Amino acid sequence: MKVLVVERDPTYSRASTVLSIGGIRQQFSLPENIQMSRFSASFLRNINEHLGVPNEPPIDVQFQPSGYLFLAPLERAAGLEATVRLQREEGAQVALLSPTQLKEKFPWIDTEDVAVASYGLQDEGWFDPWTLLHAFRHKAMSLGVLSCAGEVRGFVTSASDAMVPQGSAAVTARIRYVHVHMPDSREYQPVACAIVINAAGAWAGELLGAAGLPGELCQPPLPIQPRKRYVFSWHCPDGPGFSCPLLVDTTGAYFRRDGIAGNYLGGMSPTEEEEPDAGDLSVDHDFFQEQVWPRLARRVPAFSSLRLRSAWAGYYDYNTFDQNGVLGPHPKLDNLFLAAGFSGHGLQHAPAAGRAIAELVLRGRYESLDLRRLGWQRLEEGKRLEEDGVV
Ligand SMILES: Cc1cc2nc3c(=O)[nH]c(=O)nc-3n(C[C@H](O)[C@H](O)[C@H](O)COP(=O)(O)OP(=O)(O)OC[C@H]3O[C@@H](n4cnc5c(N)ncnc54)[C@H](O)[C@@H]3O)c2cc1C
Repeated sequence: MKVLVVERDPTYSRASTVLSIGGIRQQFSLPENIQMSRFSASFLRNINEHLGVPNEPPIDVQFQPSGYLFLAPLERAAGLEATVRLQREEGAQVALLSPTQLKEKFPWIDTEDVAVASYGLQDEGWFDPWTLLHAFRHKAMSLGVLSCAGEVRGFVTSASDAMVPQGSAAVTARIRYVHVHMPDSREYQPVACAIVINAAGAWAGELLGAAGLPGELCQPPLPIQPRKRYVFSWHCPDGPGFSCPLLVDTTGAYFRRDGIAGNYLGGMSPTEEEEPDAGDLSVDHDFFQEQVWPRLARRVPAFSSLRLRSAWAGYYDYNTFDQNGVLGPHPKLDNLFLAAGFSGHGLQHAPAAGRAIAELVLRGRYESLDLRRLGWQRLEEGKRLEEDGVV
């Protein structure tokens, strides 16, 4: 088997992976998301077994163990408690803290409107996304995977060889060639293929829509879009110390420690109505001043006197349907698989998603985790997989 990775931006300057904040948590409300996080946590713990290359230095993803701390007001307290019960059933170690316990453990938090908090005790924290990406790439190349700097711009299909039940009006096809546009060239390189995996992140929907496929093969469209998200970095010498968790406020604003010198990273997803234009990756500093900072300073009074250091923006690979990944075979293109749309949690789920797709390709079924519910079918049936823990 020959595997070719086609990447249009080999520096990954706009890839969500390297613009993320590197977090992993067990605290989700969907069993599949919890299971994927558990898989990925174990993968990261044993990363040298999985991605180590003989005679090369060991991989250090700089994992910083630290729980996520979700705060809930009274009206969301019962929901958070129910979610924690599910997380525990799935094997995650998560504590529920009353406001008094919260104040004892994290005295720097203003707990006034907090009814309950959930705090991850194991397998949560953050790591260096660039190191993980590089380790995946390096391991793949060491095993003979080929890579090419180019952009996939089209698919050439032919009628499917697959058996269609008699009387069925289903239209299916196979991708025979992928058209790769090489830099500094006006020509497309046709690449013959047996299997195609669309892992184009925030651009996975755009790629499928622009691939020159006959209309009936593209319905419904893949609802994945780039949505711009800012990360702000600030300094606050009097801020929370080493035990600082990744705190997700009742308002949706979040932050975590960045090193041990009084630096922090944080941000917040805007409301649907206030989504910024995703045309470029410029940063709206007013968003920090007007939206993020007041919320954080209200929760952590020490942050009233912080100093903003820098900021960047990246794209969530945002699934507008239900903000969860779309994983598995395409319903109409027999040899196309999808692994995209994980919205704000795709980095931590990458090891599990990669494993899942490998199992589908090689064995024709999921073996490690049953992720069928993340498949395309839910888009066709209009059945959302609700995840309460989207940050
Ligand atoms: C600010 C921010 C914070 C985040 N924080 C976290 C977090 O803490 N934890 C977490 O788990 N997730 C987080 N995420 C989400 C996470 O980064 C993404 O879900 C994940 O990185 C997606 O990985 P990917 O490989 O699918 O996409 P990407 O990393 O974007 O990779 C897709 C690649 O496809 C290439 N490509 C696209 N179209 C084509 C084409 N037509 N031809 C060739 N190449 C193409 C792109 O150049 C890109 O390099 C965050 C995201 C952002 C923006």
